[in-house]
Amino acid sequence: MLGKYRNTLFSILEAVIPEGKKFPKGNSDDVERIEQFAKQNKAFGIILKILLFTIEETEKISSKPINKRIEILKKWQKGGTIRRAIAEIILTIIKFSHFYEKNVYENFGCVWDKAPKFYQKPRYMIQVKTADQFSEDIECEAAVVGSGAGGGVVAKELTDKGIAVVIVEEGKYFTREHFNGQAIEAFRKFYSPIHRMIAFGNGVFVIPSGRLVGGSTAINTGTCWRTPEWILERWEKELGLRELSPKNMEKYFEKVENIIRVQEASDRVIGGIKEVISRGCKPLGFRHYPLKRNAPDCDAQGVCNFGCPTDARLSTNISYIPKALERGAILLEKTKLERIIIENGKAKGVIVNSNGKKIKINSKVVIISCGSIMTPVVLMKNKINPSGQVGKNLTIHPSLNVGAFFENDIIDPHKHAPQAYCIDSLHREGILFLHAGLQPDAGAVAIPYIGDMFSKIMSEYEKTAWFGVLVEDRPSGMVKALGDNPIIFYWLGKREIELLKKGIITMAKIFLYAGAKYVFPPIRGIDDIKSFAELESLQTKSLSATDFKIIVGFHPLGTCRMGIDPRNSVVDQNHKVHGIDNLFVCDGSVVPTSIGVNPQETIMALATRAAEKIAEFIT
Ligand SMILES: Cc1cc2nc3c(=O)[nH]c(=O)nc-3n(C[C@H](O)[C@H](O)[C@H](O)COP(=O)(O)OP(=O)(O)OC[C@H]3O[C@@H](n4cnc5c(N)ncnc54)[C@H](O)[C@@H]3O)c2cc1C
Repeated sequence: MLGKYRNTLFSILEAVIPEGKKFPKGNSDDVERIEQFAKQNKAFGIILKILLFTIEETEKISSKPINKRIEILKKWQKGGTIRRAIAEIILTIIKFSHFYEKNVYENFGCVWDKAPKFYQKPRYMIQVKTADQFSEDIECEAAVVGSGAGGGVVAKELTDKGIAVVIVEEGKYFTREHFNGQAIEAFRKFYSPIHRMIAFGNGVFVIPSGRLVGGSTAINTGTCWRTPEWILERWEKELGLRELSPKNMEKYFEKVENIIRVQEASDRVIGGIKEVISRGCKPLGFRHYPLKRNAPDCDAQGVCNFGCPTDARLSTNISYIPKALERGAILLEKTKLERIIIENGKAKGVIVNSNGKKIKINSKVVIISCGSIMTPVVLMKNKINPSGQVGKNLTIHPSLNVGAFFENDIIDPHKHAPQAYCIDSLHREGILFLHAGLQPDAGAVAIPYIGDMFSKIMSEYEKTAWFGVLVEDRPSGMVKALGDNPIIFYWLGKREIELLKKGIITMAKIFLYAGAKYVFPPIRGIDDIKSFAELESLQTKSLSATDFKIIVGFHPLGTCRMGIDPRNSVVDQNHKVHGIDNLFVCDGSVVPTSIGVNPQETIMALATRAAEKIAEFIT
């Protein structure tokens, strides 16, 4: 597949990754693995070959001695947009694949295959079918499409009220036996396809989401926040959403927290990052504390984002969906919504498809819970957009990860929960700092160096620390539909750029005060910051969206926002789509503005409340 450019790949691997304490130097086994992957993923293979061709034919890199190869790579890293992108992609691939290897990974003290060896299928799984197992129309009262934070919760709450529910989920019902903690396998099986997760605008933004039973809750980090009171008050005062006042929402938060067992993270789960952050925040007088999580029995294997191998995180596939199934709901897995049946302005059911077979589900109400990216696509495909607002007002909580290396601290980022600690002193300004620990394979990509310095840091990976900067953004994106697929646009505004910059500088300060030897700011062209003086020069640097390294928006919201005025919103306070009877939306897309905190509990509380309203409507 890579032909003569295998040699180019090998020469770069050899230069970038010298032998370290816990790993061999970049070698021909890495080349072999990358080539195998390229054979299985043709588009990846073609792109990689083009990149290798470009650098080889321009620089003849494979014929140069190692020090020259490093010089060339550094020159490309600091070059124009195209050269920089080529260098970044190649380095990402080789660093990740070198450390995503069983023996190397295990040398870091991690378990490669975390899935349990014995697993007994729970009884409720007999309620899980695929649509093609049915030969006739399915009759129910509520068809819920999607099984994540919105769909999973609304389905269970309706079932509790005696309503006959069918849940339709495009993904599969994966269980512990599938959650082995391996990143590539997880991305391939549990995440949405790449074209549903990339936004273009004044940069390229990654917006990950889950496509499995449990939706994104089954691959999320387990952090739980109530919607900040000031946000609920703003919705009440500025948007007229009186029913969502802090007082009214209280009981829904409480109910959710009981079901998913929200508790403060323990020191065992947090790890060494707590001490570092305490030290670094002291001179600044910043507030820091353990996060609340829905994983009280977590044993801190650090792979939440690849599915929890112990069922400790009570995502909806572990908490809400089993309860709904035990009480009689049917779940159609690997079944995709094709069409919403609308007659005379009223939703009457859905047509779903599994394995090419289409089945009709007749229902009193239809609840769309496909998430903030896919729900607007579903509505637009069905020509439901009375206000013209469907797909607009996208916010994503743009986030970046700041790294640091400490000579005298053992932090062990890969042996603790990836997110269990926070700093909230700039929260009202729109910046929240959240722990964001990385496994060695992802950490290798985030460490900016190549050559000896890279291997030195990777050899002492336990001394690295990672903390994320999350920004509460204004609506600045949109989702368009191209058939069944989204095209996502997002523009990082000036305010958000300044907030990200301030967040990075503040986080760097915290790390420096804590005694970091090197801080790795996620800004292109700056490998590290070693002193407050160096940080000063960053302060005066003007940045644009493309100056930041990969910006991730883990929390897309707002694309079918709730509002009282049908002209500028998509659903009313009861989650009913304006202008269409019996059709409801219940997921992150209805959240009217960015909330500045991880949103699963907000979505779940809204879904709990929505179920009350929908049940009243049905009965
Ligand atoms: C990596 C990651 C980490 C995160 N960490 C946190 C965290 O720590 N705390 C937190 O609060 N939030 C976190 N989030 C965000 C949180 O998980 C989401 O905001 C939340 O799950 C969104 O809920 P939802 O119901 O809108 O969509 P989802 O939970 O994504 O559910 C949507 C479901 O709809 C299904 N679907 C889509 N289209 C169709 C179709 N046509 N037919 C049938 N089914 C369909 C999808 O397969 C999916 O299962 C994280 C997200 C990610 C990706």
